[in-house]
Amino acid sequence: MSAVAKDSMTPPGSQLGSAETVLTVKDLKKHFPVHKGLFSRVVAHVQAVDGVSFEVRRGEALCLVGESGCGKSTVARCIARLEEPTSGTIVVNGTEVTHLDQDTLRAQRRQMQMIFQDPYSSLNPRMSAGAIVSEPLTNFGLASGSELEQRVAQLFERVGLRPEAMAKFPHEFSGGQRQRLGIARALAVNPSLILADEPLSALDVSVQAQVLNLLIDLQDELQLAYLFVSHDLAVVEHIGHRVAVMYLGRIVELADNADLFARPQHPYTEALLAAAPIPEPGITRKRIILEGDVPSPVNPPSGCRFHTRCPYVTPACREIDPPLVEVALGHHVACLLRPVGSDGTPLTATK
Ligand code: SF4
Repeated sequence: MSAVAKDSMTPPGSQLGSAETVLTVKDLKKHFPVHKGLFSRVVAHVQAVDGVSFEVRRGEALCLVGESGCGKSTVARCIARLEEPTSGTIVVNGTEVTHLDQDTLRAQRRQMQMIFQDPYSSLNPRMSAGAIVSEPLTNFGLASGSELEQRVAQLFERVGLRPEAMAKFPHEFSGGQRQRLGIARALAVNPSLILADEPLSALDVSVQAQVLNLLIDLQDELQLAYLFVSHDLAVVEHIGHRVAVMYLGRIVELADNADLFARPQHPYTEALLAAAPIPEPGITRKRIILEGDVPSPVNPPSGCRFHTRCPYVTPACREIDPPLVEVALGHHVACLLRPVGSDGTPLTATK
């Protein structure tokens, strides 16, 4: 296996050129303080995201997957600056947005829009559907009068809603239609980056495929970059070009979609894939049962964070924190058992 050890701070994917890079995230950390006592002293920090790096290119869907609480949604919220990052850098279309003040950030928001998990709570119930979709166009001064009306009608049609529905209010739509409305609002300002935080998980199974196919069509047509957060591996396999697997605030594996599903390298990814149902009758996978619970992100385990549950754990795993290294072209893994040298030498470096 060819192997190239890379600096763990270099965002995976950067060897493929920066010309079309829309989003670059370097060593992103988000630690939430834990307060206690009468004076709300900070007694600890929840390390929700702890040193995450990646890139997303134009027309690419990078999926972030992992169990609940692994930090994947916090990554998306930090990029949108709905959470303030503790450290690290976030660059969107060449502009660093990590510490922009709110006025400057507002202008930048035109380039990145978010689609939320719960379409109902993300839409203002007092505004008509037409007003919800036209609001960003008005706020950014992109259209007014009859042109505004025409643009909103086009957006409704593009996401599969009838323009006559502009007069309706959010409660008059079904869950799938509300998510289409959220997508129309996100597209209104022609963003280049969409941050989609579990956009299908609140929808009925029957409409998930419709909304998923709409997102794929829109990406093809508009060459959007997607950061797609999901816990559903079937969805990820369908929409993702690359997949980053997160565990306890870190990326443990990042690879092309087909490569990751066919040849998972990290024991945690193996276990996740083994637990996913296969839609073909008669085909089963070998089950890998992970021992124990996910450790607390307040006090993550020493060495490899996965060592308390890993079926292949060795004494070194308790001491050495494996960096994310490229073990094959475009395939990055953080595990001591994966070779990094052309001679297959196991990794021994400390991060
Ligand atoms: Fe398992 Fe050790 Fe690899 Fe961590 S470094 S995933 S504990 S084998």
